[in-house]
Amino acid sequence: MLVELGSRVAVIPGSVNIGVLRGDAGRVVLVDTGLNETSGKKALKAVREEVGGEVAAILTTHAHADHFGANATVVKRTGARVYAPQPDEAVLRYPILQPMSLFAGADPLDTLRGGFLLADPSPVDEVVRPGPLTVVGIELDVLPLGGHSPGQVGYLVDGVFFCADVVLPASVLDKYKIPYLFSVTDHLRALDTADAVTCEHIVPGHGPLLDSLTELLSLNRSLVEDVAERVLALAQEPTTAEMILTGLLTHYGAAVTDAPSFYLLQPTVFAFLSHLHRAGRVRHQVHKGRSLWTAV
Ligand SMILES: [Zn+2]
Repeated sequence: MLVELGSRVAVIPGSVNIGVLRGDAGRVVLVDTGLNETSGKKALKAVREEVGGEVAAILTTHAHADHFGANATVVKRTGARVYAPQPDEAVLRYPILQPMSLFAGADPLDTLRGGFLLADPSPVDEVVRPGPLTVVGIELDVLPLGGHSPGQVGYLVDGVFFCADVVLPASVLDKYKIPYLFSVTDHLRALDTADAVTCEHIVPGHGPLLDSLTELLSLNRSLVEDVAERVLALAQEPTTAEMILTGLLTHYGAAVTDAPSFYLLQPTVFAFLSHLHRAGRVRHQVHKGRSLWTAV
């Protein structure tokens, strides 16, 4: 089950790839834990049976439920210390913040409280900041990759780059058409940051392990640029964010038929609008009770 990438670094491949770092004295560090109790137990079994150690720490890349949802399970069984970036760490402690933020800051619909949007709470012991970090004798570099989430980070250890969801694989892009983003401005910067990393192996949050990020970086970047141009095309006349979303869904043929997928993309449209507004490419006005956007 474990894929070895070096003497101290391995991966448990899955719908979310989980990193396994061997520290000193049989102490093991996980990079993310997966969605729920099942993935947490699977990771613990792999660590105990295939590494012969125990989990002492969890490095969380970002506060999306599929990446930290099993923290609670692992912490309960091992007492592992949890490291997470700010401001995402607040969502680990109060996971309701995720569906709240998707639902415009309000009391979220019950249908937005499923496992993919609302994880079990995780304690946070250390707030991670970009730069060097040592955990149970392992020296890492923490890289700022915010954009997909506000404070997403990647971890670089022994030439292996855990790049989280800074890029999504072609299979995921094909399925969802428009990937969720918190900030387009930050995401474009994060793609540049990831591009500048020197490493031998890349472990993305989802999809196969890679030797080079070049292809996925350009695929993900061109999709963002394409969506931005499409938003501008849809806002030639004053229009609402919801009309822009409808136009995007139609254009890309995205199968959005339920509340979770709709409310994941609504903030994504706002992420494009604030990016374009910052760049002086759209104008915002409130007119006759409507919030309107117009390409400049
Ligand atoms: Zn994510």
